[in-house]
Parts: sequence; C-alpha cells; structure tokens
Amino acid sequence: MTQLQCGSATDVGKVRTVNEDRFLVGDSLFAVADGLGGHQAGEVASKTAVETLGSSFTDHTTQGLIDAVLKANHAVWQLATDNPDLQGMATTMTAAALVEEDDEQRLALVNVGDSRAYLLQHGELEQITEDHSLVEQLVREGRLTSEEAAVHPQRSIITRALGLDPDVEVDSWQLIPYTGDRLLLCSDGLTNEVDDEDIASTLRRVDDPARAARDLVEQARAHGGNDNITVVVVDVVDDDGRAEAASAALAKDETATATTTTAEPESDAPSGSATRAKAATAERPPSMQTGVMRRVPPATPPAPRGITWRVIAFAVALVVVLLVVIASLGWYARKTYYVGLSGSQVAIFKGRPGGLLWFEPTVEQRSELRVADVLPGRVPDLKAGHSESSLANAQRYVTRLRQEAAARRAVPPSPPPTPPGAAPGSTTPP
Ligand code: MG
Repeated sequence: MTQLQCGSATDVGKVRTVNEDRFLVGDSLFAVADGLGGHQAGEVASKTAVETLGSSFTDHTTQGLIDAVLKANHAVWQLATDNPDLQGMATTMTAAALVEEDDEQRLALVNVGDSRAYLLQHGELEQITEDHSLVEQLVREGRLTSEEAAVHPQRSIITRALGLDPDVEVDSWQLIPYTGDRLLLCSDGLTNEVDDEDIASTLRRVDDPARAARDLVEQARAHGGNDNITVVVVDVVDDDGRAEAASAALAKDETATATTTTAEPESDAPSGSATRAKAATAERPPSMQTGVMRRVPPATPPAPRGITWRVIAFAVALVVVLLVVIASLGWYARKTYYVGLSGSQVAIFKGRPGGLLWFEPTVEQRSELRVADVLPGRVPDLKAGHSESSLANAQRYVTRLRQEAAARRAVPPSPPPTPPGAAPGSTTPP
C-alpha cells in the first residue's frame, strides 16, 4: 500500500481579521480552499466546500474526486442561492487524493481557482495546477509577463470558483506516487508572498512535513502576511516497491525511454458534466533513480509546436556556420598557384592541382612555352602541377623552364658514336 505522511498549517496573516481559508487533511484526501465574499461569507463558502468534499468522496477514483468537487460546488451555490446574505460567496478548491485506477494506486489532483498544487521531485519544484485568475489568463495570452503578474494589483481576481454557478469546470491530473516525492497544496496567501525558489528551498531543507508547512507560513507572514495563508504538505513515504519494480523493468528494456511529459488538458469534457480531465491512462516507467513520481503522459500527443524564435535562431546560426566553412574552404583552395599544362602549353594556374571540392583551378597566365620545349625530366612535374606559394614564385619557375629550353636549343645534337678502329671522317664500307 502507498503510504502518505502529511503536515499542515494555516494563519490569518497580518492584515485580515478572519481566516477564510480552510484545509482538509485525511488519510487519503487533502484539500485547501480559499473563501471569497463579504460579511464572512467566504468563510462559509470554504467551510461548506471542504466539508462537502470530505463527505462526498466515497468513490476513490479520479472521477470520484471530480464528482466530489462538483458536489461541493453545488452545495456552496445552493447555500448562496437560499441565503441572500451569502449571495456571491465562492471558494477556490485544490485537492489531492490517493485513488485506484485499474488496480493501480494513483494520486489524483483537482483544481478550481488560484490555490495551487506543486510537486517536489528529485529536488525540483514544479507547479502542476494552472491558476484560474485574470492575470494568469493575461500571461497565457502574452499580454503580461509572469514577473508583471506576480505584482499586478488585480492578481487576486479569479475567473473560476466553486459556488458561482450550479456547474463548474474542474481541472484534474493523475500522478504516479513514488517514495520521496512531496506534494504542496497552498492558498495564494503563500504564493503571493514567497517566490517559488524560496518555497522549493524550504521543501528541500525541512524533512518533517508539519515543520515545512509551518516554516512556509512563517515566511509568508515575514514577507507581509497580507492574506490568509494555508499550506498542506503531503509526502510519499512508501510506494509499495513501485519505483524499484519500474526501475527493474526499465533496466530490462534498454529501449525504454523515460521522458517526463507535462499533461495537457483534453479538449472534450465528458458529456453531461463540466469536468475536464488533464490526465490520461498510459504509464511509462520512471528513470533509473528510485523515488521517481512521474506524471502520466497525455493520451493524445501534444500538437506540434510552431516555428519559435529558438528554431529561427538555430537556423540562422547554422547558415552562418555553413557560410564560414564554405568561405574558409574557398580561401584554402584558391590561395596557392601552380605551373602546369593547358593543353600542350605551359601555364600558371590559380588554385590547387585537380581542384578542391567545387573550387576548380583557373588559368592565371599563359606562356609561349610548349611541352615539347621543356626538358623531358620536367614534364611529369608539369603534368601533376608544380605548386608554388605565390604568383611571383610561379613566374620564376616558368622563367627557369624558359632558360632551360633556350640552353637546350643552343647545344647542337651529339654526333652518332664512331665504331672502334674506324678513322675519323671515313665511312663504313657496305
Ligand atoms: Mg487568498
């Protein structure tokens, strides 16, 4: 059986007089709710939602958790509808539960609003939920940066909450729990005051989940405590050998890849409800390290991404490198000269004998010398191409060939050898 250990802390903060946050910590169900509404209606909304969630979560599956959130939504909405004093009240809801899917234990996560769930895995903190808030929507549309959103005056305006309508859209995820993983549920009273790096550092440093929760609440207070602060930390302390089994399976299958995939929302909601499942069913083994908790990849592969600035930058860099290589080759191929033969004529060529790749040598100068004029011993060298480092050196070599040819023409051909015994000037009798 998967074993979880949990710690929690909540605080009214330094500015508010009422704590409208609520949390739930059970054996296998954990939740944080941040109530909204005047005249303490927010407190009623978060309390109603958490209590309804706890009593409705009887089907321990991901869909069962989603259904419990839908019931919590309906309960808050019904209460607000029946009581004019409570009209407009609402609450966020982020919850996690240990569930059974196809005889396998999973951690199901659900979210409505801007409370958050984070996963600390191998020391790396990842925000799993997406805020349903105005600034988050502007960030997604590219109209605001994350840095601007973090300090935006309207960052507390949420676009989805429990209690505003009889139905609500619920985001959900499924995680495979592995020993060593740590889940953080929190209200925006923490994330508006403490940045992700400090949250990660605390979760890495403080082993005990209750102490880690208290430490985070204290940090939020120290940074201003402008809102109610609620933190729930859930540790996976035993995964029933799941990590070891998966690692062993991976070791057997050398071709298995262990890629972490971020779950994306599915496009179609189940008919008759407003739920939206972000989880899928395929499972991949974790990496060779034990204690990996891997998110389930989506059933359908994500759509291919368009051309990004990274792709364009890479293409430009590639073209520049190719141009530099081609220019270098051209310079190398054309920097020398050689003396060779153009037909039967001696000529000076620019380039390398035989050429280099597509850089062919070209005739730089022709001489009046023909191959027949050149000393026979020089001909093989000319046919192969006699290299020189400069045009002047090549011209000097041609001058030498020319002088050798002139000297050769000045020497008369040798007379035929005289037979032994014959007198000079006599002829041999027939
Ligand atoms: Mg809040």
